[in-house]
Amino acid sequence: PVRVRFAPSPTGNLHVGGARTALFNYLFTRSKGGKFVLRIEDTDLERSTKESEEAVLQDLSWLGLDWDEGPGVGGDYGPYRQSERNALYKQYAEKLLESGHVYRCFCSNEELEKMKEIAKLKQLPPVYSGKWARATDEEVQEELTKGSPYTYRFRVPKEGNLKIVDLIRGEVSWNLDTLGDFVIMRSNGQPVYNFCVTVDDATMAISHVIRAEEHLPNTLRQALIYKALGFQMPFFAHVSLILAPDRSKLSKRHGATSVGQFREMGYLPEGMVNYLALLGWGDGTENEFFSLEQLVEKFSIERVNKSGAIFDNTKLRWMNGQHLRSLPAEELTKLIGTRWQSTGILNESGGVFVDEAVDLLKDGIDLITDSDTALANLLSYPLYSTLASSEGKPILEDKLTEVAASLLAAYDSGELVGALGEGKAGWQKWAKSFGKSLNRKGKSLFMPLRVLLTGKLHGPDMGASVLLLNRAGNSGIVSPQSD
Ligand code: GLU
Repeated sequence: PVRVRFAPSPTGNLHVGGARTALFNYLFTRSKGGKFVLRIEDTDLERSTKESEEAVLQDLSWLGLDWDEGPGVGGDYGPYRQSERNALYKQYAEKLLESGHVYRCFCSNEELEKMKEIAKLKQLPPVYSGKWARATDEEVQEELTKGSPYTYRFRVPKEGNLKIVDLIRGEVSWNLDTLGDFVIMRSNGQPVYNFCVTVDDATMAISHVIRAEEHLPNTLRQALIYKALGFQMPFFAHVSLILAPDRSKLSKRHGATSVGQFREMGYLPEGMVNYLALLGWGDGTENEFFSLEQLVEKFSIERVNKSGAIFDNTKLRWMNGQHLRSLPAEELTKLIGTRWQSTGILNESGGVFVDEAVDLLKDGIDLITDSDTALANLLSYPLYSTLASSEGKPILEDKLTEVAASLLAAYDSGELVGALGEGKAGWQKWAKSFGKSLNRKGKSLFMPLRVLLTGKLHGPDMGASVLLLNRAGNSGIVSPQSD
């Protein structure tokens, strides 16, 4: 059975790179009917925090990447935090000691430093000399009786090479002679990272390890440990880096990089997920618009690219706009209406005003947060404010004055307001006859009307804008703005 895992270290926020790794794991296992395991790699006790763990879980949930086993849901292969699995690591370390794959190393730090220096002088790779690999039982017993501290060191075969077939990168092989015997458990009993990962993946019956390219060098040590423990090796797939547009590694200096930041900026999980999937994957057609369900249906690991993928904020924003506009109307209205109320622009979160405003403005926005400026911009020029007060007149250009005078008359007589009260049809009928009376139509009628009524040269559909402004003036839904 297919079992994959996402194994974040809770030392910070979920980065877009981590989110993409989680997504590829999710898509792979869902497309195969397998399980998605979440494992928290909190062996670095100093840098791991509970808050960070919670934030990572929250971000994964927000993206819709639900896990079948792990924190919060449990499962048969728990516990799912490395900090709670020490007994297991210890047990497997002892097993390796018994089978001779591991030996006790009593070298002090000073000795190890000296070894490195000597290797350097001899122009050899800085690997462990193998001193305690050759020790006799008596020598070991002597140190044990003295109570000397020791590490557990893995006995690496001294020649040959090790080969894996990576599902993304193809065949990868390493020469063993440069590796040197490595520590799997420190003298304080603390197991070393690569050892924990291997014991976990093996005992959690993980079938496919899909992770970032930066872990490829670890795979060598992990593969040796697998063999020594007699476990079947999983398939490996190492996903390439995410790069900034200048092809350097994406980092904070390129702007937002964590999922939480994008959420706060007004991105939708649907947009994020779709964009992340395209970082290194495509279904082979021109189509780039996918829901999570569609991605599950189309995803295949063979189509994941082995070269780095460039993170393009403009494209992400555009993609988000596509998803925003394809949300069901009620859902979008609810999201935006709630936002307008919570940011204090409106004092209601729903109703006809919100329905009409969202419908009018949605084409001009890509992020939920864009709706604030779009609405504020529209409302910044209350209907008739120029017409109703003589102070407004100086802003009008000469060529607008003819239209302005007639418009003012239409306003004063109540004709315009009456027409707007009859909705879209009322407005259209009025505008037509108004144009006729001035012998204007098309642009020469609607440009001045737009400027006079909305205060702007450009904007969303004019009739709908004017009707909405009329509603804003009458309904009391718009909160008074201080500036
Ligand atoms: N804990 C590692 C990380 O956050 C992942 C290790 C792995 O996937 O094997 O980068």
